[in-house]
Amino acid sequence: RPRVGVLALQGDVREHARVLTVLGADVVPVRRPEELAAVEGIVLPGGESSVIDKLARAFGMQRPLRDAIAGGLPVYGTCAGMILLADEITGGIAGQETFGGLDVRVARNAFGSQGDSFETELAVEGFDRPVHAAFIRAPLVEHVGERARAIASLADGRVVAVEQGPLLATAFHPEVTGETRFHERFLAHVRAR
Ligand code: GLN
Repeated sequence: RPRVGVLALQGDVREHARVLTVLGADVVPVRRPEELAAVEGIVLPGGESSVIDKLARAFGMQRPLRDAIAGGLPVYGTCAGMILLADEITGGIAGQETFGGLDVRVARNAFGSQGDSFETELAVEGFDRPVHAAFIRAPLVEHVGERARAIASLADGRVVAVEQGPLLATAFHPEVTGETRFHERFLAHVRAR
């Protein structure tokens, strides 16, 4: 059984833990560097990226996470997690930082306020059937760098999911719609490593 973590500083930690457990992983909440060192992959949940960033710095987790990601740790980031994985962001609060690793520029709250949350069907590279995707104050990938690859886009071409080696990120929340294929894809990266 792969031993994977969910960064448990803020956000929808339980929803991710549930999906990963159903898929047969050993799931541990990660709040401290020792806990991070003991996992083979980590999920960065949805929530509020500026809060997770602040807490990560307060808990001494920012540096260890940056180093682990740079060292090839498989990561799956959803929504706020996608923002935290991005090398560059726009629309962050003053001083907001990311862990980085993913060669993209992500726009925070790109679809407006909470009232602009929406759901849609998306074709995803590597999946036979479309994904029912829930966007909740979601970010958008404004620019995909050379090292990253877009794997899903909205009908108008705007990119909402990317992959770069063992790094996977979606602007939407598969963990709240009963979708398991992204978590399976993450676990495949963990097993491959
Ligand atoms: N808007 C949030 C942020 O900037 C992300 C929303 C989400 O994770 N559902 O962190």
